[in-house]
Amino acid sequence: MPDDTRPPHRQIGLRTRLSHLGRPGTKTHGFVNLPVARGSTVLYPTCAERAAAGKKRYDQALVYGVLGGPNHHALEDVVAQIEGGTRCQIVSSGLAAVTTALLAYLKSGDHLLLPDSVYGPTRGFADHFLARMGVETTYYDPCVDETGLAALIRPNTRVLYLESPGSHTFEIQDVPALSRAARARGLKVLMDNTWGLHHFQPFRHGVDVSIQALTKYVVGHSDVLLGAITVACEEDWRAVRSAALQLGQYASPDDCWLALRGVRTLAVRLAAQEASGLAVARWLAARPEVLRVLHPALPGAPGHDLWRRDFTGACSLFGVVFRPEYSVAASHAFVDALELFGIGASWGGYESLALPTTGFITRTVTSEDLGGPAVRLHIGLEDVDDLIADLERGLAALRAHRD
Ligand SMILES: *Cc1c(COP(=O)(O)O)cnc(C)c1O
Repeated sequence: MPDDTRPPHRQIGLRTRLSHLGRPGTKTHGFVNLPVARGSTVLYPTCAERAAAGKKRYDQALVYGVLGGPNHHALEDVVAQIEGGTRCQIVSSGLAAVTTALLAYLKSGDHLLLPDSVYGPTRGFADHFLARMGVETTYYDPCVDETGLAALIRPNTRVLYLESPGSHTFEIQDVPALSRAARARGLKVLMDNTWGLHHFQPFRHGVDVSIQALTKYVVGHSDVLLGAITVACEEDWRAVRSAALQLGQYASPDDCWLALRGVRTLAVRLAAQEASGLAVARWLAARPEVLRVLHPALPGAPGHDLWRRDFTGACSLFGVVFRPEYSVAASHAFVDALELFGIGASWGGYESLALPTTGFITRTVTSEDLGGPAVRLHIGLEDVDDLIADLERGLAALRAHRD
């Protein structure tokens, strides 16, 4: 692979980078935003020029649509910067980023370590597709320490997979310690960093390959699915890029264009949503109906100390656990009574969402009992006072519910 010739942007502030990266602007006398370039076939005037183009760095020559075009490469550059990596591969969804990254490193006979709190479809991929391929998975307690993790490593263990905080249950993992244990035994460390976004810099904490569902805050408007796999060295880049190409991974340039539009406002949206999320979390934590709030940035919440040590901020996705005297059906009545919160999967858009957790998660080595019925909340860009008034309505329905 040719050398990375891009200038070092890392000393410039994140908001500046998000405003300026990935658009040629005055250099090409072009529009502010890179126009959408759609296409499969790329034409060349002569065979020699086409052959020469194939030898250039992948993002400096267009050869065929599936290899990506200007919109893909612009988004890839920006995401690599957000994550503090060097190269990024855009794929069709967050789940495709998970599966492509795993397939880049695993083969028949290998052993994989997945946290018990992992995103549900990642578990599905391991239990079905990877199992069929002859890859064995061991689920581990996401809160395991370095020694406990080391005891699970076998001679054929190839990948340690991390996701912090855990989907739905928000356990913060000790990423530096677990990565250290894994690297000492020659494992690759893969991490789903969708919640952490730029607030967690995976490559500073021992991660080799970082996965993002761009579908969430990067796109930010609940209208596009995209995934990203980011790496920090040439060897991992070759592994990830070749897996993506061999699998025929592709994303629409229109979707990349929309994601780049999302990038421009990412930092301000995230800051506003972080503040609103914390305000709502604090309000809920003080309510008598609530047993605990699963928000790593809330002092006293599970994982808060690790969050303080390793993260520079939070997003606006967290859980609330009601007291055990309330039933699961009562928690559904709470969700149903909300008028401003949509009931649906995914998160990271501008709109608030609520989703019951209890009964919808799978655990095989740790307990799924959070002490009471739980609901996952995503806080959008609405006025906090209106959201809190809505949640009051929900709590009234919770209290009124009798089985
Ligand atoms: C949503 C999500 C994904 C998958 O993203 P899609 O684009 O919906 O496929 C992966 N990991 C986590 C943690 C997620 O929340």
